[in-house]
Amino acid sequence: MNHIRPPHNCNELVKDISLLLDGELDRHTENMLREEIEKCDVCNQYYKSHAAYKMNVSQKITRMSCGENFKDSLRSKIRGL
Ligand SMILES: [Zn+2]
Repeated sequence: MNHIRPPHNCNELVKDISLLLDGELDRHTENMLREEIEKCDVCNQYYKSHAAYKMNVSQKITRMSCGENFKDSLRSKIRGL
């Protein structure tokens, strides 16, 4: 064993996976984490379900900001000028 790594701990990794999904990890940490995720079914499942959830949420936000509410607030801002 050349690499010193902490033992696999799903509870700890779950926190890192959240950071990964938020894009807050540096590339090195991200790569290490992805390796761990690949090795563990629990982490893999967590990663996949949360990646899908995140995508869902960001699509909703995009839809909302392009929707009527956004146009209305833009219109009232223009009117207010
Ligand atoms: Zn795990």
